[in-house]
Amino acid sequence: METMKEYIEEAEKALLHTYNRYQVVLDKGDGVYLYDVEGKKYLDFCAGIAVFALGYNNQKYNNALKAQIDKLIHTSNYYYNVPAIEAAKKIKKASGMDRVFFTNSGAEAVEGAIKAARKYAYLKDGSTDHEIIAMEHSFHGRTMGALSVTGNPKYREAFQPMIGNIRFARMNDFESVLANVTDKTCAILFETVQGEGGIYPAQESFLKQVKALCEERDILLILDEIQCGMGRTGSMFAWQKYGIKPDIMTTAKALGCGVPVGAFLMTEKVGQNSLTSGDHGTTYGGNPLAGAAINIVLDLFEENHIIDNVNEVGAYLKEKLDELVTEYDCIEERRGLGLMQGLVFKKPVGEIITKALDKGLILINAGTNIIRFVPPLIIEKKHVDEMLSILKTCLDE
Ligand SMILES: *Cc1c(COP(=O)(O)O)cnc(C)c1O
Repeated sequence: METMKEYIEEAEKALLHTYNRYQVVLDKGDGVYLYDVEGKKYLDFCAGIAVFALGYNNQKYNNALKAQIDKLIHTSNYYYNVPAIEAAKKIKKASGMDRVFFTNSGAEAVEGAIKAARKYAYLKDGSTDHEIIAMEHSFHGRTMGALSVTGNPKYREAFQPMIGNIRFARMNDFESVLANVTDKTCAILFETVQGEGGIYPAQESFLKQVKALCEERDILLILDEIQCGMGRTGSMFAWQKYGIKPDIMTTAKALGCGVPVGAFLMTEKVGQNSLTSGDHGTTYGGNPLAGAAINIVLDLFEENHIIDNVNEVGAYLKEKLDELVTEYDCIEERRGLGLMQGLVFKKPVGEIITKALDKGLILINAGTNIIRFVPPLIIEKKHVDEMLSILKTCLDE
């Protein structure tokens, strides 16, 4: 067997250097723990970036995928397949949305949402210069359309020109949204809880004001639930807490718990008045394996009362992180909902995260100064305690 160092050297010779990876080669997982190729154990508070909600090596999940692999993996969207039909019914029920299109990733779900919004507006007035309002600090993915609505100039700069007619407002600043609305606005797009941009939840009043504005002007509200959805904040989708409903919603990450799937969903009104035959497609999206993954994930969410667990352990995590804020001068504040939390430091957190990794704790950042906590949703209070004791050791050093 090669050593970890040898694997990393090989990787750096062959892979395009687009990530500054931590110096670990992960090999297997079990529950909330990961193991590297040399057998070292890590408590995982990253979950593959808010993906592996059900924990690693879940036998029911694994068996459902194995059964589907032995049966049929792919057919193309020229034909129907049962797993995708079942998955569509279940995701409709979980979200209360009416129509779904399955994609392979989050970015593709955002692309589809943008196309649906533009087509909806096009069918109304036949013009092709509609505008979308997105938010500063947002993150929607790395493809050109998703990048165009991502409110981080650093990610966009070298790849200009972006797709046109995008304006940026500020999250939780309704006046800044109003200032950007024109006769051409076809959609307002944001994450219900901003993830990569620093764990900023949308305030209820902001959501309600934007929703009312959208209804008044027939603008589509698009909520990106790729990171904050699928139970992470203590409801299946974060917007469900606030008594509002988007016209279009995106989901991915935990939707397949590791099998690369995403989706954009819409109301019947948008479904009947936007994308139609020939307007959009994908080779893999919604294939039988992807469908099987979504089905077993949604089944296990119910069977294992995942959302109850998020509410219970999320409240505990929040309380404990709030204690850290009072205990440590270097910490400014805590932000977040449920099991999507951020600790804002007064300095860069890179060193703390590297130290934690060394001590067997996987953490990630969200921006330079923020540690992001997005553990598997099956996490227990004792794991929170374990995480805190390692984190405190790192902070005390
Ligand atoms: C991760 C993420 C995306 C992009 O998803 P990919 O699967 O990486 O393309 C889009 N929006 C949000 C909010 C995300 O967190």
